[in-house]
Amino acid sequence: MTEPTLTVRAFFERVRAGQLTAVRCGSCGELAIPPKELCPACHARAWQPAPLVGEGTIASFTVIRIAPRAHAADAPYAVAVVKLKEGVSILGRVVDIPLDKIAVGLPVRFRPLVTPERASVGFGPA
Ligand SMILES: [Zn+2]
Repeated sequence: MTEPTLTVRAFFERVRAGQLTAVRCGSCGELAIPPKELCPACHARAWQPAPLVGEGTIASFTVIRIAPRAHAADAPYAVAVVKLKEGVSILGRVVDIPLDKIAVGLPVRFRPLVTPERASVGFGPA
């Protein structure tokens, strides 16, 4: 049995360390983030970790005004789909940008959001 080269757990461990990492299919070159079991393009299982620069632009976003209990104290806040320069997109929380300044096409930069309990993907000003 082959171990995946980058599990979802390892993805978030790398986020905790400040690194945004995708996986690249060794068979067809497709890039995926976060890691997937099989390549969506060719169904191969030949992933290699591919570090990302962490720069991109907001492709879409929504403002969360009524948040899940764990995030209720933070509301309102925005989450965005960010299209990274490498061509893949990822969902992340928008930080340090006023809600009324968030717009599609706004350049942003990866910002790891780290607490003792969890690491998650954030994006702040570029
Ligand atoms: Zn592939």
